[in-house]
Amino acid sequence: MFGKITSLSDNMQKVRAILIGRMQPIHNGHMQIINEILNEVDEIIIGIGSAQLSHEIKDPFTAGERIVMINQALADEGVDPSRYYIIPMQDINFNAIWVSHVKMLTPPFSIVYSGNSLVKQLFKEEGFEVRQPPLYDRMHLSGTEVRRRILEDENWHELVPRATVEVLAEINGVERIKNLSIKEISEI
Ligand code: NAD
Repeated sequence: MFGKITSLSDNMQKVRAILIGRMQPIHNGHMQIINEILNEVDEIIIGIGSAQLSHEIKDPFTAGERIVMINQALADEGVDPSRYYIIPMQDINFNAIWVSHVKMLTPPFSIVYSGNSLVKQLFKEEGFEVRQPPLYDRMHLSGTEVRRRILEDENWHELVPRATVEVLAEINGVERIKNLSIKEISEI
């Protein structure tokens, strides 16, 4: 019985941080920063931003598909599943209350990692410690570049974890992106 109480109090002292991103799709830059964060804190909350969006050229994948990619990528790297939470987050129209919306969806956290200026601003205003992660090879490691290479039949596999390649194969993700792009051009 006493053992249980001790482990509960240990649990409450854990340092937890959040990283929110659209992850369309998850790439090696995201993976590097997630690993860095796990070196610095006990647990990470990975927020899947714009969870309501999918089947759009800039947001092709559903929140569920993105969860599978991230979960599988972390499993492939041997990350202990008790150290991360993956939580989908819909956008809301009110930036001023977005931090409360995020807090409602997540376990308590004290540190925010983001390179996104709006995200940093909103969390700073609510008193959170905000850390700016280094950007790894941003010229190539971005969702925009991965999607561009998929469209142009260039080598995109080198930019993403194996899990992203596998999930896209399962869901015909390459075909989806190409079809979405054809549709959008014809609608101009
Ligand atoms: P993203 O996937 O572009 O990036 C996520 C994070 O990954 C970034 O903070 C960045 O630091 C890191 N990252 C990306 N590339 C990297 C690289 N090469 N090396 C190292 N780190 C890298 O996602 P984002 O656009 O920042 O996501 C923010 C989300 O928050 C969006 O979904 C947005 O809609 C949402 N949001 C919503 C509201 C609202 O609903 N009112 C307000 C603010 C933000």
